[in-house]
Amino acid sequence: MIDSFGRSISYLRVSVTDRCDLRCVYCMSEDMTFLPKKDLLSLEELDRVCSAFVSLGVRKLRITGGEPLVRRDVLSLFQNLGRHLKTGDLDELTLTTNGTQLEKYAQGLVAAGVKRVNISLDSLDADRFRTITRWGSHAQVMTGIRAAQAAGLKVKINVVAMRGVNEDEFDDLVAWCGQEGFDLVFIETMPMGDIDGDRTSQYLPLSLVRAKLARRWTLDAIPDTTGGPARYTRCAETGGRVGFITPMTHNFCESCNRVRLTCTGMLYMCLGQDDDADLRAPLRAGADDGLLLAAIEEAIGRKPKGHDFVIDRRHNRPAVSRTMSVTGG
Ligand code: SAM
Ligand code: SF4
Repeated sequence: MIDSFGRSISYLRVSVTDRCDLRCVYCMSEDMTFLPKKDLLSLEELDRVCSAFVSLGVRKLRITGGEPLVRRDVLSLFQNLGRHLKTGDLDELTLTTNGTQLEKYAQGLVAAGVKRVNISLDSLDADRFRTITRWGSHAQVMTGIRAAQAAGLKVKINVVAMRGVNEDEFDDLVAWCGQEGFDLVFIETMPMGDIDGDRTSQYLPLSLVRAKLARRWTLDAIPDTTGGPARYTRCAETGGRVGFITPMTHNFCESCNRVRLTCTGMLYMCLGQDDDADLRAPLRAGADDGLLLAAIEEAIGRKPKGHDFVIDRRHNRPAVSRTMSVTGG
């Protein structure tokens, strides 16, 4: 699939639920109203739509949410999608998770063909972790991370950089990830959805983070890519990779190879734009995939050139009204 700007679309991110067992302050408000379960695509429908994308050339699937591992029976989706790895039609099946359920699922994920996992962990301090997630247990996530390691999964830690919240821990995170052999990726907060707090005070440009890290670490830019938006460096002292996802300060749209499917079957061609395509209707119109494939191809043709997220005092409102947990981070 090639879009109208010549970009090849080979990566689909799929949110399998908008629900979550945590309430990270930058992502959700405390009293979230979740979608009625009947609006969600069934696991069979999710498999069908993912498989349609694979047949059109998608080589990488990321299962996300909300928290993907709180969706009931989610392992069966991984097991079924794993067949595309076996045929060679898919290069990678992976997920982004908060880690709370990994103790239960790590081995099953590996058996389904998952090799790498992104785990979000914004703090190494238990009290602070609880404040950021509103009620999360740091120990539970650490147990999940250990289970992922023990199962042989390659771990990448995602950290949302927040001014005055976790910025004093970045050196420790670099050291810890280096020691554990984890990749580390810093993410800028994006203005998505109404949250309870003020985003302007949380926002921390990663250019500043990188400059501050450079006082203690030697971070050499490397050309590595994992098929996503992160730009990587190699930390000379730890040997580990440290990446930066900078949707706010560096426009990363030119090389965008991704589209996102929500758990209700809406396809978003850009994280930061409202244009969408309903794939649930063609999916439910019949057992034949003809209408679905045509709807996907039409949508790819509408993929916009880029987003224009802005966070400043005058624009203290979300750029898009849906939260990351709806679109899938
Ligand atoms: N629940 C899983 C998790 O936390 O990893 C998967 C979904 S979560 C929406 C995916 C990623 O998006 C997480 O790393 C999270 O920290 C990040 N995220 C959520 N809201 C964000 C926002 N407004 N700006 C930047 N990153 C955000
Ligand atoms: Fe849940 Fe992930 Fe959003 Fe945190 S970032 S509230 S874990 S979906």
